[in-house]
Amino acid sequence: MFHTVVRQIRVAYPMVVFGCYLLAFVTAFAMVFMLPVGALLLVFVGLMGLIPVVTVAVALRAFERPLARAKLQRGDCPACGEHAIESVSGALESAGAGGAAHFCRACGTGFSQRGEDMVLPEPTTL
Ligand SMILES: [Zn+2]
Repeated sequence: MFHTVVRQIRVAYPMVVFGCYLLAFVTAFAMVFMLPVGALLLVFVGLMGLIPVVTVAVALRAFERPLARAKLQRGDCPACGEHAIESVSGALESAGAGGAAHFCRACGTGFSQRGEDMVLPEPTTL
């Protein structure tokens, strides 16, 4: 439950930040004609705002990983919550999974050993 909330926040966070920056852009564009100093100030606030934005994004991912690993160890999917986790090992070195990963049979989402979402490579049939 707690992991689901953290995951939803992490998934929605980039779009919320994008919306804030889009709003700042529209405000700055309007300010160019009325108060040019305000537009310049918004540019600096936007650039300096990247530091806390990236810090929060990294912290959210770091906070979510142990919660996702706990779910994976129980066999529950961190994305859909179904008890359908299957461990996949070998032939995943190229995907950056370190040789092992988890795969949900219900929703098809792949998870790395660290608990992060990942795209599993398609099985080769050659
Ligand atoms: Zn799933």
